[in-house]
Amino acid sequence: MWHPGNAPARPAGSAASAAHRLSAVDRAFRILGGCLNVAVLLLATARLVTHLSRAWHPALIGSCLVAFAAATFAADLTSGLLHWAFDTWFSTTRGAFRRMVSIVREHHVKPDEIFTFRFATDSGMLSWFGGSGAFVLLALSWAVPGHPVLVVGLCLAAVVYGLDVSLMFEYHKWGHRRRRGRLPRLAQRCGLLLSPDHHLRHHRGAHDSHYCLINGLADRTLGEWGFFRGLERLITAVTGVQPRAEDHAMLARLVR
Ligand SMILES: [Zn+2]
Ligand SMILES: [Zn+2]
Repeated sequence: MWHPGNAPARPAGSAASAAHRLSAVDRAFRILGGCLNVAVLLLATARLVTHLSRAWHPALIGSCLVAFAAATFAADLTSGLLHWAFDTWFSTTRGAFRRMVSIVREHHVKPDEIFTFRFATDSGMLSWFGGSGAFVLLALSWAVPGHPVLVVGLCLAAVVYGLDVSLMFEYHKWGHRRRRGRLPRLAQRCGLLLSPDHHLRHHRGAHDSHYCLINGLADRTLGEWGFFRGLERLITAVTGVQPRAEDHAMLARLVR
């Protein structure tokens, strides 16, 4: 298993070295995202706990399982959509996401560099996405005050979604680890955690399938039903932009 002692050297100019050279604004943006996400998750947890006794009924267990499964699927789909968007459309040189787009695309060429990225750097940026979705679910729970079962379900979904999305890069690393303990292997076999078998199909091919990073269920359903190709055809029809144009050009330069 990778540990800091055998980390590969970070070549100057690589995405990995760029990811470690954060400006004060970059750092503040990540810290703010992480703090807001934690605040939303604490509020959702407190609201869940205070409504548990009023919501209690044996059927609540089923409702909680449905909320957990739905939130996990939504987080998996979100991870797939973000990965697909960064691989397919965004620029490595322009826009607010250029640093993350560079990292995601260079990962195709140097997969093990993800183990050099700091947890806080990744999760701070992703917290903006996870925290936003969790906030919407938490706000919805305030719209149904007379239905404690719904409040508990929505708050549980907010916590699961916020955590899953902000930790998706950590889940992704489990899809690359060569040595894994018994518990991660069990979670991967049960479909709760992204497995190498599933994720490496993204790396073996043209990097145009198997985008999802939580557990891959959205790939095995929506992805196989043509969801991402359909979105690409729609975007090309509306904008005229071809998918993966910049990615193809960058890969051609790197392998030359
Ligand atoms: Zn990967
Ligand atoms: Zn990719």
